[in-house]
Formats: sequence, structure tokens, C-alpha cells
Amino acid sequence: MSEVRVRFPPSPTGYLHIGGARTAIYNWLYAKKHHGKLILRIEDTDADRSTQESIDGIIKGLEWLGIDWDEGPYFQTEFAADHIEKAERLLAEGHAYKCFCTKEELDAKREAAMAAKKQFGYDGTCRDLSAEKVAANEAAGTPHVVRFKVPRKDGVVAYDDKVLGRIERKYSEIEDFVIVRSNGKPLYLLCNVVDDIRDRISHIIRGQDHMTNTTRQILIYDALGSKIPVFAHMPLTLDLKKAKISKRSHGEIVAVHFYQEHGFLPWALVNFLVLLGWNPGDDREFFSKEELIEAFTLERINKSASIFNYRKDDPKFFTDPKAISINAHYLRTMPVEELSPLVKEELVAAGLWDKSYDNEKKEWFEKTLEMIRERFHTLKDFSAEGCAYFSDDFEIDEKALNKNLHKHPELKELLPQLADRFEALPELTATEAERIAREFAEEKELKVGIPINASRAVITGQIKGPSMFELFEHFGREKVVARLRNAPKYFENS
Ligand code: GLU
Repeated sequence: MSEVRVRFPPSPTGYLHIGGARTAIYNWLYAKKHHGKLILRIEDTDADRSTQESIDGIIKGLEWLGIDWDEGPYFQTEFAADHIEKAERLLAEGHAYKCFCTKEELDAKREAAMAAKKQFGYDGTCRDLSAEKVAANEAAGTPHVVRFKVPRKDGVVAYDDKVLGRIERKYSEIEDFVIVRSNGKPLYLLCNVVDDIRDRISHIIRGQDHMTNTTRQILIYDALGSKIPVFAHMPLTLDLKKAKISKRSHGEIVAVHFYQEHGFLPWALVNFLVLLGWNPGDDREFFSKEELIEAFTLERINKSASIFNYRKDDPKFFTDPKAISINAHYLRTMPVEELSPLVKEELVAAGLWDKSYDNEKKEWFEKTLEMIRERFHTLKDFSAEGCAYFSDDFEIDEKALNKNLHKHPELKELLPQLADRFEALPELTATEAERIAREFAEEKELKVGIPINASRAVITGQIKGPSMFELFEHFGREKVVARLRNAPKYFENS
């Protein structure tokens, strides 16, 4: 079997979109699975819209996701001579022609077609101009585009899509499309094929939105005498209302950097995106890299659109809840040694990092992560909900404040008393803390949950969390005592 060579050819006109990332991931998986090569090609021929910022963003996004490529990045603009040469060859060999129709003429024909409720397609006015007429137009300096000469014949252009099966399109439905603009610049349809031929691409895995390009591009391959690659078209991603997800309607949640900024683990995003349009044929949801490479096949790419489930109204679900739950899964199950540097990065950025967590408090730090991650969804939670573990400067969650402190005004005095009892202990172990707390509650005729929940609020700032008895031990006597003694301040103005 010949070598598998796939490509990811983004146009650098914006940030890396999750749809683009998914395309890159599918190509990457396919290359890995077949010991092939992934080629990164930046399709920067649209000089007006391509930016260096976008190129950098795309590359950084792929790197962050862990999608490595084997060749490139190649830049399409570097191969301009090749595109022009192929356009000239198509002209010379009668597969293309110069079209001198003006914009005004074409607009008028388009309007007439619309008025007659007919679909507009180029009518071939310049298709068979005589050589003399072409020469005269050129001599007169009349601008022209180059159009591909679609064979006028019955029958269909067909290919076997790896996802969708046999796809056919009648020749008669394909108009003579433009391959070189009037400024002499070859267009996407041509450049993309010329580059794929030069890069010896064996499989083209891209979105279904390119299907109308595919049939036209197959004609170009034929005309250039090149072997047609295998095509696999992936489903589009739609929102709950069946609209295409886009920056304009959905904002930054479609950008890969959004996930990076919101505390996602790159692999969790890869895992989520893979499942958005592909299924393993069983109910597995989580995959290691090796498992995913092993399981991935083009045939299991879904035919119908994937739904990106996003509900603007619930801030907890700032993106598809499935993405969040996959992220939470990895966050909660990955080895702590791997999680630890990621949390460090988050805490450093939030100004909550203490050097001792690298040294004498390393064990305490890792134990903290073990204890608190059970409820967390993203890396951001460590600096937000987890703040009290790393800083004395934290806020108490509104709900905890109302429910566990303000509802019981007597705690204003009782919590400092509990602090005294803890302080008198030689050591604050979980067992001792529990014994003291129960004794204290009984004496004060309170349910034990009341001082315990209040302690949770003033010590961790949260309404829920790991076992409070264990937390007393984990925070240590000094901190526990100080925070309990500090409790009265939360009752002022309550
Ligand atoms: N530059 C094109 C895009 O970003 C490439 C499409 C393709 O052929 O895969 O849509």
C-alpha cells in the first residue's frame, strides 16, 4: 500500500476554530494510525485576509492541543509559480480558457436568471472564442479571468466518499468556474489541488462544506493527469437551533484559545472534539492517545451533523456540558504529578502560588489537589473555588454565607470558642477534631452539622467539599484556629 499522506491546510484569516481543530485532529489520527505523514500547509494566498497573528495563533493552538505534524508548515504563497504554471498548462492543453466577460455583463445575466427564477451559471460566452478574438481582446488590454472548461457531456463526476459513500454530480450542473482572477492570481480551487498534488496527498479529510469544491477539483486532477485522492467529508457542527457554529453568533466559545483560557486540559478538548462527529462503535467516552489512534477509522465518522450543545443562559455551562464533563473526568483521574504543574501554572497566573509548594509543602500541595479536584471541572476552579486552600485572602461563597453562617447568628460567638478548644489540643488530627466538634455541639445543643458547615464556610469559603474533619487536619491547627477566630467579621452587617 502506498504511503498515507494527509494534510491540514488552514486559511490564516482568524483564530483556530474548534471545527478546524477537529479537522486537524482527524487527519492527525489517520496519519498516526497508518504510519503516514501529516502535512501542515498555511493557505495564505488571500493576502487581504491572511495575517501573521492568525498564523501564530493556529500554530500555537495545534501545539497546545498536542497535534504534531510531520512536514511544514508550508506556505501556499511560496508556490505561486507552480500555481501559475499549472494554470498555463490547463490553458495550453484546452482545459481552461480566458473569459473577458465584464462584471457588469455577468451581473446583468445573474439578475435576469434570478428574475426568471432560474439558477445562474456561467453561460460559456467565452468558452469557444477564436484564437484571433482572444488575441484581439488581449491586445486591447481587456481584462480576463481564466475559467476551467468543464467537459460538456452527459453523465456524472463521481467518487466514493469514505464517510458518505458514492457521491455523484452531473457535469451539466457544474459551471465553468474561475481558476485565475483578473489580477492574475490563481484561486483556491486550483492552488489547493496543485499543492495537494505536489505534496502527494493520498487522503483529503475535510468538512462537508467543501463538497461542491470536491467535484470541481476532481475535474482539475483529471485535467492535470493526476491520481485522485481518497475523500472523506466530515459532518458540520451545528448548535441546538441547527445553525452553523460561528464566531459571529457564538463568540469565543468556538475558538481553541477559549478552552485554553478557561482551564481546559488539551487532551480533554481533543477527546471531546473527536467525539463530535465520530463514534468508536461502542460506548467508550474516554481514550488515551494510543486507544484513540487504534480505534479511529474514517468509516465511523458520522454522516449527519454534530450538535454542539451550548446554553447561553447557564454560566456553569459556559460551553457544551459534555466538553466540561470530559475535562472534569481527566482532571479528577489523571496522575497528580501530571496535574500538579498545570495547577501551578494556574496559581502562578492568579498570584496564588507559594514557592514552598515546590519544596517543603509539596506533599501538602499534592494532597490538597487530590482532595479538592473531586468537585472541580476546570483548572480555573483551583484558583477560584479553591482559593482558600492557597491564600488567606479569599471570599466566602454567597450561599455558604447565607445558609451556614447568617442563619445561625449564635455562631458569631461559638466559632471562636470552637477555635479555643482546637487550640488546646496537642495536635489537630481528623479524629480529635471530630471528637471535639461533636462534644462541642452537644454541649451547645446544636446539631453537629451546624458548627461543621459554618467551619467549612470560614475555612474553605465553600458550601461543599471534602470531609471537614479531614480538612481540619489538613489545614492544620494554626490556620483553622485563625480562621475560626476570624468568623465574627462575617456577621457584621448581616
Ligand atoms: N484553506 C481551506 C480552508 O481552510 C482548505 C480546505 C481544504 O481543502 O481542506 O477551508
